[in-house]
Amino acid sequence: MKVFINPGHAPNGNPDPGAINDFFRIREADVAMAIGEQVKQYLIKAGCGVKLLQSNNLYGEAAGENIIQSANDWEADIFVSIHCNAFDKTVRGAETLVYDLTSDGHELGKCIHAQLIEEMQDIDCTFPDRGIKTRPLLAVLRSTIMPAVLVETAFIDNDYDALLLMNHQQEIAAAIARGITDYWVQKQG
Ligand SMILES: [Zn+2]
Repeated sequence: MKVFINPGHAPNGNPDPGAINDFFRIREADVAMAIGEQVKQYLIKAGCGVKLLQSNNLYGEAAGENIIQSANDWEADIFVSIHCNAFDKTVRGAETLVYDLTSDGHELGKCIHAQLIEEMQDIDCTFPDRGIKTRPLLAVLRSTIMPAVLVETAFIDNDYDALLLMNHQQEIAAAIARGITDYWVQKQG
């Protein structure tokens, strides 16, 4: 199985760091990359081929390397974009974005989301499950030809969630990797 991992926003946060937590001084681009790197390591150990490419090219509009074309050309079996959410500093939880509710992407999203929520609620039983949502306009979901999901791991601008994102990257990465392999086993079966 070939898995394309896309940590959100720009490499090294330049020019697009994504959302930030100004109290802890952490940036979405760095957290997404750190989690993505660990997902990659777990999947390599599980025998997967993995390509990891960070990009600020979320809507397909930015110049430079096009993550969608890169994933399509590589003929990835699965595409997973990793992000952190942000709203008004009070909202918490994880949500998983998919193109629609009928595609293989939705099945992949269900597998990843279930593992992520179980893990996060194991760490913090108050962690909200915000569910699976459709985002058909997101290019990384619409224009990728393989099952694709975008995982919003937690709200980086909320201090409770930010602590989870700082202290539990390994567990988050392992959960995402388990979700990916769950999907693959299910699909083969
Ligand atoms: Zn983002």
